[in-house]
Order: sequence, then structure tokens, then C-alpha cells
Amino acid sequence: MLTGYQRVSRRIPCRICGKPDWCSTTKDHNIAFCARSVTNADRLSSKGWGIFYYDRRSATPVQARRTQPKEKTKYPKSNSVAPIEIRHRIYRALIRLSPFPEYSELIYGNEWLFRQEQEFRRCGILPKLATERHRLVRSFIKSHLKEEGTISTFKGVPGFWQGSNGRPRLGSDLDYDGDLLLIPFLDSTGLIQACQLKVIGKAKSTSGKYQWLSSIGKREGCSSGTPLHHEGSVGFRGKTPTTVLVTEGVLKAAAAQHFLPDRYVVANGGVATSHQEIVKAARQKILEIAFDADCFTNPHVARAMATLLALRIREQQFLFCDKPTKILAWDTRFKGIDDALIAGASLKYLEVSDWLGLLTPECFEEASHQLVGISP
Ligand SMILES: [Zn+2]
Repeated sequence: MLTGYQRVSRRIPCRICGKPDWCSTTKDHNIAFCARSVTNADRLSSKGWGIFYYDRRSATPVQARRTQPKEKTKYPKSNSVAPIEIRHRIYRALIRLSPFPEYSELIYGNEWLFRQEQEFRRCGILPKLATERHRLVRSFIKSHLKEEGTISTFKGVPGFWQGSNGRPRLGSDLDYDGDLLLIPFLDSTGLIQACQLKVIGKAKSTSGKYQWLSSIGKREGCSSGTPLHHEGSVGFRGKTPTTVLVTEGVLKAAAAQHFLPDRYVVANGGVATSHQEIVKAARQKILEIAFDADCFTNPHVARAMATLLALRIREQQFLFCDKPTKILAWDTRFKGIDDALIAGASLKYLEVSDWLGLLTPECFEEASHQLVGISP
């Protein structure tokens, strides 16, 4: 699918910041890499660039000009997404047909066992081989036909698309390097909105590489977007939350919800995503931000954190609301809040001004830039 990269130019400026230099894009223009802006980026690159899956966005600051190279893709790139009930039903059935194995060679020790118990129970496995995924889709169709008496349609379910023979396909048309963990992202009512994929194996930590299960740019395919996961819809059901806690990633959210049951936990897919949804979920409530410890030392992460803080503070000012906003910190030997909680480390609750005071100079520079004109 990726046809290579190209630099932006005067003729084809960056679709995110509108400038003709620094940034780049894939040749098929599906993905933009912006060196200047990470606001609402789908991901951050290791260099701190914003990575934007362009066709998920209907409106960007600078629309690409018509003079671009002829698009090779014949399919509409942004098919609309099916209603949540349909997505939920299909993803749930998929996970049931291909569940995370209960006892397997994936067990690495007690901590891993704990994670399996707490976090992996609801995950599925996306097989690495395309042929196995075809088989999975076929068995889904068979069981759906048996149970519902109808042929299932996958239209508008991110990750599914239509092969050249008209048959439904799932995931990449190529083999992956290994089996992938299929991680459901739940909405505020507990329904599965989309799924993330994570390579299983050697990496014991939960902060490996994640990608969305999407079928952007494929025939009848569509994008997953970057939804906010509501762990609280499972662990907090029926209660009225006073505090919303946000982490990066579903697996960390599950651990946080387990250890901090009086919080309503949500998780974004990466530090730079879903800021609006986070602010909305925490409206008129206390907001606790528990991003990885590198928000003190990595300028790109600090910038993303400050962007979220700025949005939160502006909304609070607009609503004349003064519910606290806290940044969580812990022993820096632990990267994520999950590891800190599992190890029994204590948490510190920082004010925004405390956080700013603890940043490295580069981080402070990036963060204060986002907070110009705002008094936290
Ligand atoms: Zn740019």
C-alpha cells in the first residue's frame, strides 16, 4: 500500500501546516508527516513529527491542490463507518472466534500472568498469515449464517475490505511478521468502536508498537479514526464519576482501572490523539493525566501534553469551571502507570505549574509554547 515517501514542495505543500519544506508525505498522500505540528496527530514519530492518516480527516488547514500527481487508488478513500452496533457485533464475534489463548507460551512470569488476567482477557488474536485471516473471515460468515440466518456484510467495519474476487478480506493483504494482539477500543457504553493491533512476543512491556486495524484506501475499506477508549464503561458501570483519569493505551487503562477503581479511566491511542474527547469526557469533573514518564523528558511528548492541558484549561475558563487538573507522576524507573501500580509505587499528583517546573529545559520550551496566553 505504501508507495514510498516524498518531500513536500511549493507545488505540493504539507497538508497539515501548509509549508513547502521540512515535512513529507507518502506518495499516495494517505499519510502526512509534519515536522511542525502534532496537534491531533494520529501518532508521533520517533523524531517527534506528527503522523497524520490524512484520509481520516475531512477538513485540513490547507487543502491539497489539484495539480498533485494522479491518484492511483480507484476506491473512495473515506467510506463511512458502520453504526457502532454493527462494528461491535462483528469485532466481538471475531474475538470470540480467535481469542487470546488462555494458557500459552506467551506467559513470561507472574507479571505477565497478571496482565493476561487483567488486560488480555478481552483481546483477540489477528493471525499473521493472510490465508489464516481468510479462514477466520470464512468461519465468521459461516457462524453468522447459522446464528442469524443472513449473510453478514462488513461494509464500514474498519479493517475489512473487499478483495478483487469480491470476497471480504481482513487486515493487510500481506502476511504480518507475527500474530497480532487485537485490542478492542470501547465507547462510553462498552461497545467496541475500533481495534488496535500490537505485535505479540518478545516485548514484555505494554508500550510496544501499536497500529489501528483499518482498511484505508482499500476497496470498500474505511478508517478506524482514533477513538478514545472508555475503560470506565466496564469497570465503573452504573456509578457517577467525579474523577476521569486518562492513560495512553487500553492495556495501561485496564491496569489503572483495576488499581484505582474510584476513577473513570479512559485511554487514547497515543499522547497526541483524542484530546477533544478527553476534555469532553472530563467536563465538570476532575481530570488526572497519567501519560508515560517521558512527558517530563521528551519534548515531543511534553508538547502533546501541553496541547491537551491548553484545551482543558480553555474549556474550563469558558465554562467558568474550576475542577482540578492533575498530572500524575511516579518513580521514574517505571515508564507507564501500569508498571508503577503493579510494582506498588506511590503516585504523586502534580498541579500544572508543578509539572512545568519539573521539565527539562527543552520540554519546558515546547510546553510553554503551547500554553502561551493561558494561566494554568
Ligand atoms: Zn507540515
